[in-house]
Amino acid sequence: MIDTHCHLTYDGLHERVDDVIAAASAADVDRMISVGTTPADAEKARALSHRKPNIYFTAGLHPHYAEGYTDKAALLDALREKLADPKCVALGEMGLDRHYPEPPFDVQQRVFEWQLELAAEFSEKSEKGDKYLFLDQPDDKKGTYPLFPKAIIIHNRQATDDTLAMLGSSGIDPARFVFHCFTGTADELDKILAFGSMVSLTGIVTFASAIDLAAATDRIPLDRLMIETDSPYLTPAPYRKVRPNEPRYVADVARFLADRRAMSLDDFTAAVDTNAERFFRLN
Ligand SMILES: [Zn+2]
Repeated sequence: MIDTHCHLTYDGLHERVDDVIAAASAADVDRMISVGTTPADAEKARALSHRKPNIYFTAGLHPHYAEGYTDKAALLDALREKLADPKCVALGEMGLDRHYPEPPFDVQQRVFEWQLELAAEFSEKSEKGDKYLFLDQPDDKKGTYPLFPKAIIIHNRQATDDTLAMLGSSGIDPARFVFHCFTGTADELDKILAFGSMVSLTGIVTFASAIDLAAATDRIPLDRLMIETDSPYLTPAPYRKVRPNEPRYVADVARFLADRRAMSLDDFTAAVDTNAERFFRLN
């Protein structure tokens, strides 16, 4: 089983990360994608991914941390350098969040726009057939991996229309985006599905208070769906009181959704893991 979105670098997980990974493996969660939320955080995730073969990482600037990034070239260079790593499977998470008043929305939009430009820049290169040189590959492997299309992880909270507008005008293939931790309305979900992106669900769908959300997610076609923990946050039922959340609990998200879809856990897991392997190009 794959946890497609966790933060193994965060407090609560990082200081005992070997145990967290071992506990996940014991629960059949054998691969994890540790999502970077700033360049420095991505660097920590990268170090972990180089130490653990079953850990992948991503690099992006989360909207919560957008404040203070005023140098576009410096930010994009830092992200480019991470994206060049073969263990880096996505750009992001990045996006828009209206849940908190800070940082100001225009600050969030600015760094999101820059990161979309970065993705578009590499899309053009890969369409032309250019190969990206991975920095730390042995010479005989250099130039053999296309950098993009890499996956792009979108954080959207209460900003679906704004997010879709910016993704639409980026010109990037909608199938490259995943809306991670989807928690919106059925209407918002329909817009995302019509746009053509993937949708990923966390333990929030298992919460008794989220019955409408769970019902709405039934409309996600099986081949557009992925699952994640977003740990250390959002422990799924029946372990909601366990803090922090850990990748091993992705199995409980899977069980809940398999039941809703009247599927066996094995069939459901095989389907969402196939999606994750395809979307993130895991080997
Ligand atoms: Zn996250």
